Amino acid sequence: MRKHDRDIFFKMIRGKVGFNELMKRHTTFRIGGPAEVWLEPADVTELRLIVRYANDNGIPLTVVGNGSNLLVSDHGVKGFVVSLAADDFKKIEIVGNTVVAGAGVSLPYLLQNMKEAGLGGLEPLVGIPGTIGGAVCMNAGIPGHWVGDVVRGVSVMERDGSIMAKDRDDLGFRYRGCDGMGESVILDVVLLLKPAPSDAIAGWMKHYREMRLQSQPQGSSAGCIFKNTEKFPAGYLIDRSGFKGTRTGGAVVSERHANFIVNEHEATANDVLELIGRIKASVLEREGIVLEPEVKIMGEGVYAN
Ligand SMILES: Cc1cc2nc3c(=O)[nH]c(=O)nc-3n(C[C@H](O)[C@H](O)[C@H](O)COP(=O)(O)OP(=O)(O)OC[C@H]3O[C@@H](n4cnc5c(N)ncnc54)[C@H](O)[C@@H]3O)c2cc1C
Repeated sequence: MRKHDRDIFFKMIRGKVGFNELMKRHTTFRIGGPAEVWLEPADVTELRLIVRYANDNGIPLTVVGNGSNLLVSDHGVKGFVVSLAADDFKKIEIVGNTVVAGAGVSLPYLLQNMKEAGLGGLEPLVGIPGTIGGAVCMNAGIPGHWVGDVVRGVSVMERDGSIMAKDRDDLGFRYRGCDGMGESVILDVVLLLKPAPSDAIAGWMKHYREMRLQSQPQGSSAGCIFKNTEKFPAGYLIDRSGFKGTRTGGAVVSERHANFIVNEHEATANDVLELIGRIKASVLEREGIVLEPEVKIMGEGVYAN
């Protein structure tokens, strides 16, 4: 990016712009080197400006939600990293049983609103620290309850700045992802929920929260590191390979849930990647099973998945 062009462009942005912004401030793992340019567009018009500028100038553009499923390289991320954290992307509209939530709405806030509105269906997502945009990309949830089950469609911005609607059938939801998103930026998510008494919703939320508290570690993490396999949960295979409590640098495999790696003490992405490599090699050797990362590995000098 030429400095002169860059300066003119960034003067047009009213939202937040940060140069060499440390991604560890924007991931639940508290890991990640600098984003070359961190951008929080103020609204859709500004997002379009950014997306088009990146597209026209060959600048890589990465969209992030709450960074709760990310492992970002210690060397950071080149180009633009865009977060839909501005208020314009955090609106919730309810018409009957249909809810339109901005991609930047956090799941805890959405769940709270749905409880108050008496709309059920999202309770199994309680305790997932992401945005609804990130949740749709990841088809977040727990076995038997995926966000994709209640998504009716999304509106997205394509890399040329055009906005279009995609139906759930276009999204291709699958385990831990959806295949129909391509490089689109999700703007809004349309959900179809079921009327339910608020106290019943509160009860279910409590139930799922307690389940989570019992099974998952506290501390900085990105949730489950590996996808479950068809036959076995990844945590079971990792535990059977004796990895609970194994450390590399500041990263440790949780004693409570072997599929969680916790950043216990200023871990680097390299610490985590080394643990990932050791776990994969051991499970392959012992079980003949290739574990695939669930966490999105991004940035300079690391492989993406
Ligand atoms: C303690 C803990 C518990 C967790 N428990 C669960 C669980 O039970 N089930 C589960 O499924 N996950 C779980 N996770 C993982 C994670 O919270 C989810 O995958 C979540 O949905 C990710 O949302 P996010 O907003 O943080 O997305 P990010 O992690 O920021 O991004 C995830 C992906 O979505 C893309 N993305 C985000 N927003 C947009 C957008 N607007 N447009 C286009 N692409 C976008 C990103 O580019 C990236 O590829 C857990 C994580 C933690 C830390």
